[in-house]
This record gives sequence, structure tokens and C-alpha cells, in this order.
Amino acid sequence: MHAPVSGAAADGEGESRVILQARVLLFAMTVGVLAGAAEPPLARLDVSPAAAEAPVEAAPDPDSAGAAPKPRSVAPAGSLPWVELDPGDDLPYGRAMPRPTPDLTVSPTYPSRTRAPLVTNGPRSRPAVAITVDDGHSPVAVEAILEVFLERAVNATWFPVGAFAVNQPALWHRIAGLGFEIANHTWSHPDLTQLGASAIEGEIRRGRAAIEQATGRPVAPFLRPPGGAWNEAVLAAAGRRGEAFVVTWDVTSGDTGRGPVGQVVENALSGRAGTILLFHANDRGDKLRTAEALAIVIDAYRARGFELVTLGQLLGVPGPVPFPGPAPDP
Ligand SMILES: [Zn+2]
Repeated sequence: MHAPVSGAAADGEGESRVILQARVLLFAMTVGVLAGAAEPPLARLDVSPAAAEAPVEAAPDPDSAGAAPKPRSVAPAGSLPWVELDPGDDLPYGRAMPRPTPDLTVSPTYPSRTRAPLVTNGPRSRPAVAITVDDGHSPVAVEAILEVFLERAVNATWFPVGAFAVNQPALWHRIAGLGFEIANHTWSHPDLTQLGASAIEGEIRRGRAAIEQATGRPVAPFLRPPGGAWNEAVLAAAGRRGEAFVVTWDVTSGDTGRGPVGQVVENALSGRAGTILLFHANDRGDKLRTAEALAIVIDAYRARGFELVTLGQLLGVPGPVPFPGPAPDP
């Protein structure tokens, strides 16, 4: 996964400076990529409580759908049937990584706001897998992956880092407009287990605000902690911020490593019913390995009789579904 690097120091001087720091860091990371860094670390930005409370910088509202391919159906903007969370007992999800969760039945009422349960997979009884794509460090990689999803009519879930989303508002506005599910991967991609409770909440709150700013739509109520790192404080903070689940994965594609596409494909195809698959949109523009692997992985799962679903579909949480009809023939 990505080791966060120490970045801008906390200060309370206002949002514009924070955003400027983010842009400087993003630029610095881009330079790092061009200089040949194989696995660029993601920025750790300002996680001070003051910064976390601040609103996200106003961004333009470009509707850049343009000549993009249209999915069969798009969920109406701003009117998604978000279900209010009800107090209830914790569900029997796993508590340790990388051990998969046991078979589970997701209740139509969601758990207590005081603790968001950890989910590593969906029900094992249904032949469905959920593709998730994290980070969005590279807009070129995001677009290449999006193209694969559109060509193949794939339901999938994106977890952009908030600072990346707010720096690419046209791109993320388009993805949301196409009906894809977009959820929270924090504002600046720190290891949440190294932060105090208020800083964790700030990362969650600000990540969500940044995505909403970019997309103009509600964010799906799932938190993916950077690096999959979680502890009880993370689950508690996520619950307090209204996340329905903290979602990791049971199968990683290993696409942040140096292996060939074939290895990424092999890793990703080790899933089974209920699997949550992890990919990343961080590839350099000249080596779009994740998109290449995804095309093969998608076709192979469908040939095996699996349905590709959003996390919401997998976990029974209402939300947008870009391709609600039957899957195309493989
Ligand atoms: Zn990440």
C-alpha cells in the first residue's frame, strides 16, 4: 500500500493555504512520478482540526459529460434513496485484516452510529463480486479505467482521495454523473491508526466534503481507510461521521507492485462469491496496467457466471447503480 509522507504542517490560516499546499504537493508528486518513482506515496496534507472543520474550496461546476458514452441508466442526481441509519447491534463482521469476514447477512437496518462495522466481503451465497478502485492519483489512469467500465457496462465503486477529487472536479463530476458509486477514502490518505479521534473524524468529514464538492452528489456511506489500516478508533469515528461501514477487501490485485499484468490478473481472479476486489487508479500514463488487467478480470468473472456489482448492491445499501439492467453477454 502507500506509505504516507509527512507533508504540510498544520496551520489555521485558512482554506486557501491548505488547498495551495495540496496543489504544491500534488505537483511535487507528479514530478516524482515523471522522475521515475515506481510507487509514488500519496500526500499527507493538513489534518489539523481547524483544517478539517474548514469548508472545501469552492470549485467550478463543469458538466463535462460531453461526448462520453452513456450508460443505460443514470440515477437521478441529488435524490438518492439514502437510508437513515438506525441504532442496532453490531453485526458479526470480521475484526482483523486480512482474515475475510464470515458469511454474513446484511440487515436492512444499519448499525449504530457509534461504531461502523468493518466489512471485508459481502455475502458468500450470491455469485457477485464488487470491484473497487482507490486513490485517483493519476487522472489518466482514472479515465482509462472508466473507459473499461463503460465499454463493458460494469457496476463498480470508486474511492478517490478527497484532495485528488477536488483537484479534478470535472473528471469526478463526470464519473458521478454516469451513475457510478463514489465513496470516501479520506481527505489526504494518512494512516488513520496513527491519528487521534478528532483528526480521524476530520479526515473523514473533509474527504466526504471534497467529493461532494467535486461531484455535486451525495457520497456513498462507506469509508475505505488508507492502506486498509483500521482500529477501534477508526470504526468509532466512522460511525460518528455517519458511515455505514468501514470497507476493506478480501482480494487485492496487487496492482501497486511491480508485477506484470498477468500477475495482477491472477491475483484478482482469486475471488469468490461476495469478494471485494481492490484496484488503484495510480498508473502512469504510459503504463496503464490496472486498466489492462481490469478488462481481462471483468471478462473472466463474467465468463464464470459472476455478476459485477457496486458495494451498495453487494452490501444492501441503496445508492447509484450505473448499469442496473442484466449484464451483457461475456
Ligand atoms: Zn489508497
